[in-house]
Amino acid sequence: MLLQGKVAIVTGGTRGIGYAIVREFLKEGAIVALCGSRASSAEKAVAELKAENANWEVCGICPDLLDYASVQEAFNGILEKYGKIDILVNNAGISAREPFTSYTEAMFDSVMDLNVKGVYNCSRAVVDAMKAQGSGVILNTSSMVSKYAQPSGIAYPTSKFAVNGFTLSLARELAPSGIRVNAVAPGITKTDMVKALPDAMIQPLINTIPLRRIGEPEDIANAFVFLASEKASYISGVVLSVDGLART
Ligand code: NAD
Repeated sequence: MLLQGKVAIVTGGTRGIGYAIVREFLKEGAIVALCGSRASSAEKAVAELKAENANWEVCGICPDLLDYASVQEAFNGILEKYGKIDILVNNAGISAREPFTSYTEAMFDSVMDLNVKGVYNCSRAVVDAMKAQGSGVILNTSSMVSKYAQPSGIAYPTSKFAVNGFTLSLARELAPSGIRVNAVAPGITKTDMVKALPDAMIQPLINTIPLRRIGEPEDIANAFVFLASEKASYISGVVLSVDGLART
């Protein structure tokens, strides 16, 4: 198993891509703390995973990712419980799809706050422990739009370009401490929102993807497993596209 005994924290782990990351990490032997925005959704995700395999070691926490003190308190709880934090996955993210002229300041702030400041808060809260350990992995969920932009919802691509900059810069700063920092840039992925779309909307989407299918959450999660594992021990500062070659 690729992550046997590793302790991981995954934000936005209650559904979608984050839930798949948690599940694949558990299959590879990791101990996982999943973060949800509500206690009820975190508890539900943990119960589902335990029902699938009672031996999986998984717990739920609900820090306010926009508040450093709240993140620090929750992550310190994991550190005290397991004695280390090997892997942080900054996956929680939101978007607001509006044309620029109706894009409000509140929309801009909410997307940037979670997608960028949340990544800072969580990373800041694990780095002291990782430095003391002399090892650690920080992985960020970017997006295909961080490479090719998108024609609406301005804060979302802006935030994901920032995630890439954060990833590359922190990778350089933390490499001498034995900490690797990478990102995964998913293309369109079959989470609840995409699954709810009618076939008439799905097929034109598929036609834009050279590999001719929409990504499954497990496709994305597998890239996280690889980057979290020792198989990627000489890889830092990359933004790995997992998008079926979708380039629009
Ligand atoms: P999702 O909406 O299914 O899940 C989002 C997760 O983030 C949930 O677990 C939710 O609880 C959490 N979250 C939302 N707001 C939060 C808040 N304020 N505080 C804490 N947690 C909060 O989304 P998804 O599609 O699985 O997306 C996960 C990541 O993948 C995001 O960063 C997203 O930008 C990125 N992404 C998704 C796609 C896609 O097609 N689904 C493509 C590229 C990138």
